Amino acid sequence: MDRADGLKQLIDGVWTDGEGPRFSVVDKFLGGELCTAREASVAQVQAAVASARRSFEANRLDPYERYRLLSRVADLILANREELTATVIAESGVPWKDSDNEVARTAETFRVSAEEAKRLVGEMVPIQGAAGQAHRMAMTIRVPRGVVAGISAFNSPLNMVAHKAAPALAAGNAVVVKPPPATPLSGARLFELMLEAGLPPGHLNLVHGGADVGQALVEDPGVDFVTFTGSTPVGKAIRQSRGMRPVALELGSIAATIVCADADLERAAMRCAQSGFRRQGQACTSTQRLFVQREVLEPFTAMLVAETAKLKVGDPRLHDTDVGPLISERDAARAEAWVSEAVAQGARVLAGGRREGAFLQPTILADSPRGSRVLCEEIFAPVLSILPFDDLDEAIDEVNRTEFGLAAGLFTQNIERALKGAARIHVGVVHLNDASSSRVDLIPFGGVKDSGVGVEGPKYAMREMTEERLVTITL
Ligand code: NAD
Repeated sequence: MDRADGLKQLIDGVWTDGEGPRFSVVDKFLGGELCTAREASVAQVQAAVASARRSFEANRLDPYERYRLLSRVADLILANREELTATVIAESGVPWKDSDNEVARTAETFRVSAEEAKRLVGEMVPIQGAAGQAHRMAMTIRVPRGVVAGISAFNSPLNMVAHKAAPALAAGNAVVVKPPPATPLSGARLFELMLEAGLPPGHLNLVHGGADVGQALVEDPGVDFVTFTGSTPVGKAIRQSRGMRPVALELGSIAATIVCADADLERAAMRCAQSGFRRQGQACTSTQRLFVQREVLEPFTAMLVAETAKLKVGDPRLHDTDVGPLISERDAARAEAWVSEAVAQGARVLAGGRREGAFLQPTILADSPRGSRVLCEEIFAPVLSILPFDDLDEAIDEVNRTEFGLAAGLFTQNIERALKGAARIHVGVVHLNDASSSRVDLIPFGGVKDSGVGVEGPKYAMREMTEERLVTITL
């Protein structure tokens, strides 16, 4: 695909111009246009789904073949690491350190998916334990669902597409993926590499566009499973429109981290600064509420402010930059407005607070009032609020007092406090002695409450992307 020629859809193995409205992708730091493209039409979305169905029926890949092909994709990703990193930086504004790491993680997502393709198994069912059933055996087998539609968010433009496509293919499905219109380029390059690796072209369908294209994909009756990452309102709409058909939804959150007085405060401060501000706070697990035990509030706050001052804000292409521009100036202005609103209601700015264009300085707030948007809505920007607490149980009650439940961090050196806390914090992922944002790609990762349904991580996503079928054998 020649990028100067515009971004194309991949349908039935052919790179095709869109037939819908035109949109452009811009460099989030330099501001120039990276490419223009047309969105897919509804007919093209339907053609992509039909292609996936035909290919799924015609090209059943055995597990070892899936392993071989997905391993090859991992190799190709690493062979193209620099170019992919440059694309992620340009389209998302995520600094080099995190973009380069994202490319390595994407290869890992494919590598783990390839391995899991070889060990996708059901289980023996002890049917003989039922009265009069001694002449029978039973087991479950895992059967690919067929056509998996993946819809991804902007904040991790390459690895998120990988988390949609790699486990689906590893489980034996064909895919149709729709990346977000703000950051479609690295996902498109990944599809080129998957083609180059030798996966059946009809298995790999890619459509571009925004909400309308996503909606057309979700509503297509030929789609057997939808895996979606994005905001909670869109996730709820998808769930409604899919009715009884299965979905996995990785949604928003207001992640919290708790620091107890007995914690290793220096390490906690370093990890909380990263968890709050890395990727400009645009991670679903970014620490937005930081609960600190009152007796260490002063020293810990000083350490956190010092760690935050070390973060270099600026050109995402420089290798020592930590914080780049947000995905748009509009988003930075929205976050700034929420900060100003909190300040007008009594919050104090301990660090940052200033915005210039799409850049918002890493911002630490104290005394953010209960009910303020910085505490109650997902800010998706480098802003965290420090909240003192006296009693851990009360802090956990406060962590749980939100409709979200994705990830949380808890720093304490007391094992009893740690394990009791892990059991009480109502989220999908608890990191003990780490901050809320500490995902690695092979872990089961998913939220509870309004943060989603279903679990990612290749092994676990493959369970969702297959049907469990019971087989009995009468001897
Ligand atoms: P978004 O919901 O606006 O968009 C996500 C994707 O959905 C995009 O591809 C978009 O084009 C598409 N879309 C929009 N409306 C649609 C519709 N009606 N039907 C089908 N598709 C539709 O989210 P965003 O702004 O791109 O991403 C930020 C959000 O993603 C945050 O809430 C963040 O917490 C969440 N997120 C969650 C996780 C997780 O694993 N839980 C990871 C990253 C981001």
